[in-house]
Amino acid sequence: MSKILIRGAKVLGGEPQDVLIDGETIAEVGTGLSAEGAEVVEAGGKVLLPGLVDLHTHLREPGREDSETVLTGTRAAASGGYTAVFAMANTFPVADTAGVVEQVYRLGQEHGYCDVQPIGAVTVGLEGQKLAELGAMHESAAGVTVFSDDGKCVHDAVIMRRALEYVKAFDGVVAQHAQEPRLTEGAQMNEGVVSAELGLGGWPAVAEESIIARDVLLAEHVGSRVHICHLSTAGSVEIVRWAKSRGIDVTAEVTPHHLLLTDELVRSYNPVYKVNPPLRTERDVLALREALADGTIDIVATDHAPHPHEDKDCEWAAAAMGMVGLETALSVVQETMVKTGLLDWAGVADRMSVTPARIGQAAGHGRPVSAGEPANLTLVDTAYRGAVDPAGFASRSRNTPYEGRELPGRVTHTWLRGKATLVDGKLT
Ligand SMILES: [Zn+2]
Repeated sequence: MSKILIRGAKVLGGEPQDVLIDGETIAEVGTGLSAEGAEVVEAGGKVLLPGLVDLHTHLREPGREDSETVLTGTRAAASGGYTAVFAMANTFPVADTAGVVEQVYRLGQEHGYCDVQPIGAVTVGLEGQKLAELGAMHESAAGVTVFSDDGKCVHDAVIMRRALEYVKAFDGVVAQHAQEPRLTEGAQMNEGVVSAELGLGGWPAVAEESIIARDVLLAEHVGSRVHICHLSTAGSVEIVRWAKSRGIDVTAEVTPHHLLLTDELVRSYNPVYKVNPPLRTERDVLALREALADGTIDIVATDHAPHPHEDKDCEWAAAAMGMVGLETALSVVQETMVKTGLLDWAGVADRMSVTPARIGQAAGHGRPVSAGEPANLTLVDTAYRGAVDPAGFASRSRNTPYEGRELPGRVTHTWLRGKATLVDGKLT
């Protein structure tokens, strides 16, 4: 196997060091390492992180290959510095059987741009009525440990309770998309000053917060763990903070877009800003940043939600909800969390690699950058600043809210078990 010497990289943002990869493994980390027999990558002070792990990606295959496939989605992931993604279950057919999760898992293995860990549906067809075959999906070759009806909320308290009880047997986790369905009927954007002025149907914060409150109490009651997807309100942060202080086994994620964007953008009526949960207020954004910094929110997850042009380029009310995110996530986190002094690079590694790998049990990912560990790594030019150009995306879709916006940082290299998937910003 080949050797690669990454020379002069700031590991987790620390002092420059050399990292020697031998085959699939990190062989040595130190200064002045010999380059003999190795291909040399001059890092020149770029930041080296463990490969990023996304607990919340929509790869759309099977069924919506016009918006994304496992191949294009994992290429987008490698471009963004990811070495593992968890693929959401709301495909066509729904990933609610061992057969579908194994299909997605195998496609990920075949393409080899990053590891794909399928998420299984909680209920059959995401219909919220009947538990899916959670055990069979866990026993399958895909080894599913994370279950979610994402896109929809598991709104029935009895079904949620049963799911939480069921996954305990194999230390699985239910990832809840917290959205009380009756409170959000016809909702088009965050309920507040802007929705009132625009006359668009409001999506109240309480629709998210009431489900989170219920689910942390259910998790406590049955002694299970629960993960909350894409927190978007200051009130949700308060509930999770309270639950953790009480010892409830809850983890939570925030998306990059909820760390940066607010509902003021909806005044443009540009459907690129239409997303579920909706963009909230400045006050919510600041509370989410603070919560990610202090650990109340455990991780950043992209909720990468590709949509074809025709599903987004229409009037606001008809447009699909969601944004692509894999290729801009790290830049948005640098902008909102690192530049602001809220997180250092070790903190970013924790929130975008170490902890998501732990929650999802992604073996070999989120590991320390040290000898003997799998060489899942990403190299970031943190000094770079440039405008986002969706034409250069590896994703099949272009629905980014950042087109033309200047953001810091650019991933130049990604290695998956020692194999380069991205070199000098180009996919291999
Ligand atoms: Zn969701």
